[in-house]
Amino acid sequence: MKFENIGFIGLGLIGGSVAKSLRRVYPDITIIGYNRNRSVLDEAIADGTVTVAADESLQAFASCDLIFLCVPVVTALHFMDRLSEIRKPGSILTDVGSVKGEIHRYVETHGMSSYFIGGHPMAGSEKTGYAAASDRLVENAWYILTPAENVPAESVEGLKMLLEGIGALPLIMDYREHDKVTAAISHLPHVISASLVNLVHDADGPEEYMRTIAAGGFRDITRISSSSPQMWQEICLSNPDNICDMLDMYITKLLDYRSAIGSADSDKLLRIFTDCKDYRDSFDTRAGSVQREFRIYLDLIDEAGSIATVATILAVNAISIKNVGIVHNREFEQGVLRIVFYEEDSMKKAIGLLGNRGYTIYHD
Ligand code: NAD
Repeated sequence: MKFENIGFIGLGLIGGSVAKSLRRVYPDITIIGYNRNRSVLDEAIADGTVTVAADESLQAFASCDLIFLCVPVVTALHFMDRLSEIRKPGSILTDVGSVKGEIHRYVETHGMSSYFIGGHPMAGSEKTGYAAASDRLVENAWYILTPAENVPAESVEGLKMLLEGIGALPLIMDYREHDKVTAAISHLPHVISASLVNLVHDADGPEEYMRTIAAGGFRDITRISSSSPQMWQEICLSNPDNICDMLDMYITKLLDYRSAIGSADSDKLLRIFTDCKDYRDSFDTRAGSVQREFRIYLDLIDEAGSIATVATILAVNAISIKNVGIVHNREFEQGVLRIVFYEEDSMKKAIGLLGNRGYTIYHD
């Protein structure tokens, strides 16, 4: 399938990132964009991502071979009927919503089963909006596709190839399976993260020691709690049955672990932590809902200019730093200075350069 005209409704973090990625890889395609906030469209035209700004009538989408719906899940439903009337025969309609059941049920009951392919890029960030969009966000990330039942195989293959072109890793799945799987590995972790953060908030004393030294493992497993509250509210409302099923299983597990700790069952405790370590260590770090971070940790002597020295070594060798910071609580991390890079190659080069200068480096 050829995709010459591609439409985007919603140019926020995800829509903007997919559009920017397509523009980077396919410079000749026409991208038609519509966003509620006009300034975003102006920005996307100014930076060359969007070719044509559509107005509220959405008529500009009539020429599209493929339309991406990248607005919140509930809002996406409001566009479905209008797009179905306007769309070109043979074109594909896809979305990027984190929950697929609601939209697929709409598709089934409104005769859209021959051209809707649900989509869910398993990539994101705590930020929202076009300003946070990146032409690399979906690179090396699973991109789940949930084709409706009558979509021709060549349409699915066409979309799959387009996404592979921008570096994503498409994975075809039934939409019901998608909602069950993501309830376990994405939605439940957000609920757990929220409960942990709120628990520490409630349990902390007036000196706020917990808040002050919260770092390492606690920071890592609660990082996702900085995501958009509205989006997670919407996800819980859209996938309640699967999330509740997983929560019930989780509560049973917690009670089991509580009983092992309360009864000092040393064998069981060792088994719990050994099993989880073995399973966790077997995970593929190539892709996932959280993009892999290319980070290293260094031991650093606490003296004036020591961070600047490291930064200079990297800068004169043209290595860009994405993030740098002091690790205040190293209960779960080694090394005082954490440096995050944009790509693996930069990280490897930095390990070589700093290693040759005698720095002690820790990395995954
Ligand atoms: P976002 O807030 O960054 O972007 C949403 C965009 O849609 C904004 O530009 C907003 O102006 C626009 N918009 C909202 N209502 C609109 C309307 N009625 N008409 C036109 N434009 C409208 O949000 P996002 O993170 O890009 O999320 C979009 C979708 O992507 C959601 O369905 C979400 O479930 C899904 N998703 C998000 C993530 C993530 O981590 N953020 C990951 C995967 C999938």
